[in-house]
Amino acid sequence: MEVEIIALLTGLAGLAIGLTTGLAVRVSERSQRAAAPATPVGVLPPGVASVLSVLRSSAVVVDVEDRVLRASSAARAYGLVSGDRLVVDEVLAMARLVRRDGEIRETEIQVGPTSGRSRADGRWFAVRVTPLGSHGLVLVLAEDLTDMHRTEAIRRDFVANVSHELKTPVGALSLLAETVENAADDPEAVRRFAGRMQYESVRLTNLVQDLMTLSRVQGDEPLPDLRAVSLDEVVAEAMERCQFKASAKEIDLTAGGEDGLRVHGDQELLVSALRNLVDNAVAYSPENTRVVVSARRCDDDQVEVNVTDQGIGIPDGEVERIFERFYRVDPARSRQTGGTGLGLAIVKHVTGKHGGDVTVWSKEGHGSTFTIRLPLLDTAAGATAARNNADAENHTDNPAQEAP
Ligand code: ADP
Repeated sequence: MEVEIIALLTGLAGLAIGLTTGLAVRVSERSQRAAAPATPVGVLPPGVASVLSVLRSSAVVVDVEDRVLRASSAARAYGLVSGDRLVVDEVLAMARLVRRDGEIRETEIQVGPTSGRSRADGRWFAVRVTPLGSHGLVLVLAEDLTDMHRTEAIRRDFVANVSHELKTPVGALSLLAETVENAADDPEAVRRFAGRMQYESVRLTNLVQDLMTLSRVQGDEPLPDLRAVSLDEVVAEAMERCQFKASAKEIDLTAGGEDGLRVHGDQELLVSALRNLVDNAVAYSPENTRVVVSARRCDDDQVEVNVTDQGIGIPDGEVERIFERFYRVDPARSRQTGGTGLGLAIVKHVTGKHGGDVTVWSKEGHGSTFTIRLPLLDTAAGATAARNNADAENHTDNPAQEAP
């Protein structure tokens, strides 16, 4: 009996000690919690705002209830935040996960245009989500990758187009070489196929030449060795290079306008640009028509060169696209005339590099006039404009801005 009483008392004592210890631990935890500084709701920890303001990425801080405490103006402008909410579901879900387990997460997202345009017009962001402090705040950083994505897409398209354009003449050459070998006993056939081979190799050479010119004028580097260039010489040389083709179609190729005008530039590139326009005027005109090239001074410090034809013209909807690389209104006709599809892209970049531009008026079935406008050299304003505009073009001539 005594033994049982001792055991009971010992048990009760143990229970009392356990209860006291548990109580003590809870009281201590509560007092510790009371000692930690509470983060006022809706307020960022000190210093965070100034750090965020120097970051280049768009930054958003969300609190424990998913409310946006702070968002940079870019985050709002790009449609990541509206009012006090993160509007991209994927980012919101990531913020909740990060808050729960404290692990940093990264992803790439596309934020679509807000109204009526295609998804390709949306913006791309590299998003990084990380915990901020120990009170459930989460920081979302979004870096705009849109330009990088566009440049990459244009580069991919360009490489695919070049490969496709090269494949045709190279394939034709290899086929013709095989045919010539098989027709070794037939001199007439050999002559015919050799002629075709020559045609394909000229096409290949023109394409490579145009690609080299284009890469020279669409890069960021300024053109070296710019000097005073006589427009009379540019017009004469461009016309001379097209005379043979024009005569073959009995097209009357004439020069008109003002003499003695000069610009500041690269003569070979200016000839190449104008030659492309005259070449097109001849290529896209029927026989026995007229092509006129004329230069004139306009606006005191500008000069324009017009190339006018009486050809097939360009449909309204296509005018905007013809300056894109490899864009052709009628691909079969362009190939027939030996076009590379790069001529007008070269004209656009050459004039841009010289501080000018190229425009077109056209009426389907009636003809077209292409106008190159350049700063005139022999006025102080013209010389300065040429230099400034060429500098500006060198800084903004970003392939990302050009449609593929
Ligand atoms: P291409 O080598 O095909 O001529 P370009 O870049 O010079 O390439 O021209 C692009 C397209 O613009 C041509 O394929 C053609 O459809 C159209 N084009 C250019 N110049 C003229 C013109 N003078 N008249 C009618 N169409 C033209």
